Amino acid sequence: MDSDKTWTKEEILNIYNKPLMELIYDAAEVHRLHHDPLKIQVSKLISIKTGGCPEDCGYCPQAARYHTNIEKNNLMPVEEVLAKAEAAKATGSSRVCMGAAWRNVQDGEDFDQVIEMVKGLSSMNMEVCCTLGMVTENQATRLAEAGLHYYNHNIDTSEEYYKEVISTRGFNDRIKTLENVRKSSLKVCSGGIIGMGETVDDRIGMLMGLLKLSEAPESIPINALVPVEGTPLEEQEIVPIWDVVRMIATTRIVFPKSTVRLSAGRMQMSKEGQALCFMAGASSIFAGDKLLTTPNPGDNEDMELFSILGLTPTEKIKDYTGKVKIRKDQPVVVEDGNWSRPNHIIERNVKATEKGKTKRKALK
Ligand code: SF4
Repeated sequence: MDSDKTWTKEEILNIYNKPLMELIYDAAEVHRLHHDPLKIQVSKLISIKTGGCPEDCGYCPQAARYHTNIEKNNLMPVEEVLAKAEAAKATGSSRVCMGAAWRNVQDGEDFDQVIEMVKGLSSMNMEVCCTLGMVTENQATRLAEAGLHYYNHNIDTSEEYYKEVISTRGFNDRIKTLENVRKSSLKVCSGGIIGMGETVDDRIGMLMGLLKLSEAPESIPINALVPVEGTPLEEQEIVPIWDVVRMIATTRIVFPKSTVRLSAGRMQMSKEGQALCFMAGASSIFAGDKLLTTPNPGDNEDMELFSILGLTPTEKIKDYTGKVKIRKDQPVVVEDGNWSRPNHIIERNVKATEKGKTKRKALK
């Protein structure tokens, strides 16, 4: 498969809809051309600031407006983050991703503290990633100078369906953040979530969104929604494993050189289902019994699965040199800061917010 190919939506849709066994076979072939199929990168996600987020992302238990059972935490001390990373390294992780429930990065004490975390982690010979919300080019450059390798900011879904999930920032803010990251020397990590009620067209639309970036992301997480009580998407049915496999395989074929990460939702997948995802080109998982706030298989369980499948965790930081062709017909306009706040009405978000208010009142 030509990694410099310019894709149309129809072509990608045709790939997604192939007979599943053909799709997995094709994706496995592409995977073998660019990656060691017996290596999986194990990443540790550390929630450095949990909950209390002002945004209204319909899938997220960390949004302050919904009433969920998560434990809120202020920004974690630097030493605690470094100790968690050391422990993760000892159990096979070669990558740490720090997540903070912020709308956007704000210059000041908290950001300075994150910079110290990045400095400490990058001296541990681990790949370091951050997901801190929207970021300006200057802030991304500061993170890069501190030793950060990747910045994560998921576009979540298609531009069209995005409006049904989030009202407190626009799809274009996401793109602006990713282009700000790209202008610094950081690598881009961006992907999406399936199982939010989107159509197959939206799933392909998410991939098209990534293709419209000036360069393809080096890292693409594919998440399966974990419906959390209290969030607007609490009643969403668990996405079938076959859809996850299709999405992983399609992503692998369209982005042959990127790391495709099988991310949230693994607790909902059988070991056999996860094995199919690895076969179809997933080359990374998140380890530990908790992701940011939702449950995840424990380290032992993952190592047992790796041993059954003959997989081993990657030890070294991966060198990424591949690039996907820029789609020159769709230039991206980039501004620094000035984030939008569309605040249109999303009925289910409003309903979950009202329910949250009532619950909090009753608890007083
Ligand atoms: S996904 Fe991120 S920005 Fe959205 S509510 Fe959750 S923590 Fe906030």
